Amino acid sequence: MEQKLIFTNLVGKALDQLVASLGNPSVFTVTDMQIAQIVLPILKEQSTAVSGGTDIKIPTGEINKTLDTVQLVWQKLQEAGATRNAVIVNLGGGVVTDLGSFAASTFKRGMKFINIPTTLLGAVDASLGGKTGINFNGYKNDIGTFSEPEATIISTGFFVTLPQQQLLSGYAEMLKHALLESKDELNKLLNYSVVYPTFNADALLPLIESNVMVKSRIVTEDFTEQGPRKALNLGHTAGHAFESMALERNSPIPHGYAVAQGLVVSLILSHLKCGFSSDILHTFAKYVRSNYGAFAIDCDDYPRLLNYMHHDKKNDNPDTVAFTLLADVGDARINQQLTDAEITSALDIYRDLMGI
Ligand code: NAD
Repeated sequence: MEQKLIFTNLVGKALDQLVASLGNPSVFTVTDMQIAQIVLPILKEQSTAVSGGTDIKIPTGEINKTLDTVQLVWQKLQEAGATRNAVIVNLGGGVVTDLGSFAASTFKRGMKFINIPTTLLGAVDASLGGKTGINFNGYKNDIGTFSEPEATIISTGFFVTLPQQQLLSGYAEMLKHALLESKDELNKLLNYSVVYPTFNADALLPLIESNVMVKSRIVTEDFTEQGPRKALNLGHTAGHAFESMALERNSPIPHGYAVAQGLVVSLILSHLKCGFSSDILHTFAKYVRSNYGAFAIDCDDYPRLLNYMHHDKKNDNPDTVAFTLLADVGDARINQQLTDAEITSALDIYRDLMGI
């Protein structure tokens, strides 16, 4: 399925043109309370579609990505007399785009929606690929649909108010896409600084543009995740294990930080199993160590980490753990089955490389 992506720092103009091309339907802007204060006023100055539309403000944060919040959106739509011809503009991070898209894809059996991501993670990952959803009964993203926006408008202009951790967290997904694409793409990212005060939002837009094309192309090939889309799990098997362990220690880490560490583990396994370059592995590990730090583990943690990996929902063989690995940058091998002994060796090397 082809996705319409618009890269611009003139968001209001692009949005108004898009709404006009849809026949000027009623506009409902879904956003969270924090973005409603920081970003919405700026967009209202730029866009008559948004300033003349209806705002639907939802509570902020992952904890509110729930059915209750979806009901709140449905309720507001119904009260305002929204028809199937109306359009929802999701203005926010991954929580808003996941939940707002889900509400749009179910209200009146599906209405149109447009995503405007305001976090880097949203721009390079969450708002692309057609997965909508909410958390349910303690399970993340357990209820949802595959549903495509009319368009996603990607701008870096709103990122200047993002906290440092948010920027680095989104950047980890960009690093993953670059590893799946080419050495050229990877080197561009390793040479750019996403760290304040040198962070330059304008210079990030062209990097995002080529980077999201990687996800876009993979998703277009495999919309419902039957095969090649699994490559996007690169770094996530070990990453989710680190994330779960951090939660268990009552010291949560941002998702992207866990992914960055997980990417290092994947590259080590790629080197051991598929001949991935040792030089690139060392360069990458050094980059992660200096920007994200290391996730502290010792060998007593291995059984717990292995347990998390075996229970990864994408794993279907009880004796091994499925990883996406790389034979080279841009050359992914999905469904590589690894034994506990192989993963344990990789964790030993991870600790050496990260100086733990
Ligand atoms: P988020 O949406 O909770 O945003 C993080 C915080 O940043 C919030 O407090 C938000 O109010 C604030 N914020 C947003 N934009 C801002 C800005 N410009 N300036 C200042 N503050 C701003 O979190 P996220 O990291 O963007 O997304 C995480 C979510 O994305 C998770 O729920 C995850 O499941 C989902 N996700 C979905 C997909 C998918 O394919 N659908 C992929 C990856 C992640």
